[in-house]
Amino acid sequence: ALIGSGAGGLFLANRALAPARLAWANQQRFIADASHELRTPLTLLRADAEVLLRGRQNFDPEDAALLEDIVTESNHMSTIATNLLTLARLDTGSIHREHEIVSLAALAQQGVRRVQALAEQRHITIRIESNNDLYVVGDPTLLEQALLVLLDNAIKYNHTGGSVTIHTIAQGTQALLEVSDTGIGIASEHLSHLGERFYRVDKARSREAGGTGLGLSIARSIATTHAGKLTLSSIARQGTTVTIMLPLAAINQHDRDRKTTETRLYEPEQTI
Ligand code: ADP
Repeated sequence: ALIGSGAGGLFLANRALAPARLAWANQQRFIADASHELRTPLTLLRADAEVLLRGRQNFDPEDAALLEDIVTESNHMSTIATNLLTLARLDTGSIHREHEIVSLAALAQQGVRRVQALAEQRHITIRIESNNDLYVVGDPTLLEQALLVLLDNAIKYNHTGGSVTIHTIAQGTQALLEVSDTGIGIASEHLSHLGERFYRVDKARSREAGGTGLGLSIARSIATTHAGKLTLSSIARQGTTVTIMLPLAAINQHDRDRKTTETRLYEPEQTI
């Protein structure tokens, strides 16, 4: 009787949840379609304004400034539409995902190369610290996108002359990719809200730096898609550390004293 009522309960709960699941899937599809449709007119709008700006000598300076605003705002809206599309695809699992062996050290180097110019502009130094070569199974493009969100934030919310450090650490069966900065930090009352979409501590600063309030949500969804998770710790006015934890696929341990390298492979069930 117990087994029967348990199975019956599960069946009924599943049936009761079906409409909610359908509504959620429809909503995600609508967001994906809407953001996809928005991107083309926004691109055209920006292109038109840029063409007009080529003849800026024919305009009043005030009109030229208005056209520049149109370019900036349409750029910002395009970024929001692209981010919403990425999130909707990650939510529904419809994003194309490769399954490759990805070296965290190579990922970190590639990430640093991409943000180096931005960091130099703000006199921020970026370091990579790792003792071992850690490998995970995943999509290199998505993982790089997640790392770029963290690096971009670590630079945007930093002080001029500050620093950013990327650590790659093996912890049991997990590989940690950690981005720490010496920036403005986040007050404790905001920390629990940071998973919410569009939540920004300082909206003006985020917007001025080109932020949309969706970066951390994207990085978190990418970590979850890879059977991992994202955690954030911060001290106001001291700095922030954001960690992406992923299942470890393999590790190359260097014994620097003996000048040897040992490779250990992890069991498939520990990878995605
Ligand atoms: P945004 O596009 O606004 O940067 P995110 O989702 O990436 O959006 O981040 C959400 C908010 O979290 C930011 O607006 C900022 O207030 C805060 N934040 C994220 N990373 C950091 C960091 N490294 N240092 C300080 N604040 C941060």
